[in-house]
Amino acid sequence: MVKSIANEDTPALPRQDRSWALFLDLDGTLVELVDHPDHIVVDDALKTRLQTLTTLLDGAVAVISGRAIDDLDRHLTLPTLAMSGQHGAEWRDSQGERHIAEHHQKALEAVRQRVNEQVRRDEALYLEDKGASLALHYRHHPEAGDILKSELSALIEEYPDALELHQGKLVFEIKGCGYDKGTALERFLTVPPFSQRCPVFIGDDRTDEDGFRTVNAHQGMAIKVGTGDTIAGSRLKNPDAVHEWLDQWIDRLQHS
Ligand SMILES: [Mg+2]
Repeated sequence: MVKSIANEDTPALPRQDRSWALFLDLDGTLVELVDHPDHIVVDDALKTRLQTLTTLLDGAVAVISGRAIDDLDRHLTLPTLAMSGQHGAEWRDSQGERHIAEHHQKALEAVRQRVNEQVRRDEALYLEDKGASLALHYRHHPEAGDILKSELSALIEEYPDALELHQGKLVFEIKGCGYDKGTALERFLTVPPFSQRCPVFIGDDRTDEDGFRTVNAHQGMAIKVGTGDTIAGSRLKNPDAVHEWLDQWIDRLQHS
């Protein structure tokens, strides 16, 4: 059930008597949202924080993002970090091996051309072609949301078994059916070093709710960043608060 929770629900640090796996969204969670996805700022402190946590949690740390892994690597420059990109359609395991989902690629190819035509007609739109999914950003044309939603829904309706439309913060994504941040987390939790560990997932957007559902099913810690309804059990205010909370956890892990 969706509930509104207050800021005083700031999460306690994970209990010391359990083993944890940490999953993190990037945009709006570890870095502030900016006007263009290429303009996010990943500073050295964030990279060090992720590396330290990966060491302290025996490798059980993964970034779970809507971005493509190539894009995540460009910004994070942590090529051995486990991650899932494109809402679960691709992933890199803790051994560094890359995997990609294929079943929806043909349908995606068929709609790619038509989405491109749409973007050419409205220069306020920005299409991010991630390979296994398409993200249409309309943050410079926010009033176009309703019409875009119906146009994109019509575009994919001939492929109900292959494609689905997701709405994020001023972005629509056309992606393969059957993958989301919840399935991405679940997949990691079946293999070492994540298996047998209790998940923590921190995310800010509507698509992160799928991840929270998986975490809740495993009795883990689901942490929502910012405002808005959520099924997460606790909340942090913004990326700065996330960094602070992670640093406190690092401190506790280092002194246990
Ligand atoms: Mg996000």
